[in-house]
Amino acid sequence: MQFTVAIDGPAAAGKGTIARGVADAFGFVHLDTGLLYRAVGRRTLEGTPATIAASTLRIRDLSRTDLRTPDVAEAASKAAAMPEVREALLSFQRDFASRDGGAVLDGRDIGTVICPNADVKLFVTASPEIRAHRRWLELTQAGLDITEAQVLENVLGRDTRDRDRADAPLKPAEDAIQFDTSEVNIEEALAKATGIVRRRLDQKA
Ligand code: C5P
Repeated sequence: MQFTVAIDGPAAAGKGTIARGVADAFGFVHLDTGLLYRAVGRRTLEGTPATIAASTLRIRDLSRTDLRTPDVAEAASKAAAMPEVREALLSFQRDFASRDGGAVLDGRDIGTVICPNADVKLFVTASPEIRAHRRWLELTQAGLDITEAQVLENVLGRDTRDRDRADAPLKPAEDAIQFDTSEVNIEEALAKATGIVRRRLDQKA
């Protein structure tokens, strides 16, 4: 069975938590596509041109433990604006999405470009302040020394670059269901997402 769930949205809106939760609930595989761009961004910080980093990316690059920092996120967002980089990462993502047994992919362009025929498309948002607060908590819990204002600046800068780029800009697909997680907790959002996926699976059965 092929079944694809596409979850898009800006930084730290909760899409990763929802994507992992949906994948766990249904036994689907999950790909955080931001990791691909982060792995490329990481290598650009080490001096490799983005296009080379993208075309030579290996699976083991995704498990590096140094991909979650704001400077890597910033470098990822710059690399992600380059059409050659996006093109180099396209087939890996599409192959992953069509794996047998169901797949959840989260990112910025899953419902619009990578999987335009996904069975379920969600677009997850929250206010910039709430997103920055959540990301700040994650980063400081991981031991990073950073202020909430610095995280907000990083998040807003990436949002603007991701929305304004010409190729695969961050935007909801026309048929995406939009979720605002500003006021609801992540468990409620996950329950809603799981319900949507279950109904779609039942329709398909
Ligand atoms: O999701 P995450 O914050 O890890 O993504 C890092 C950066 O990678 C984003 O700011 C965005 O520029 C880029 N990205 C993208 N398309 C995706 C996933 C991530 O352009 N599908």
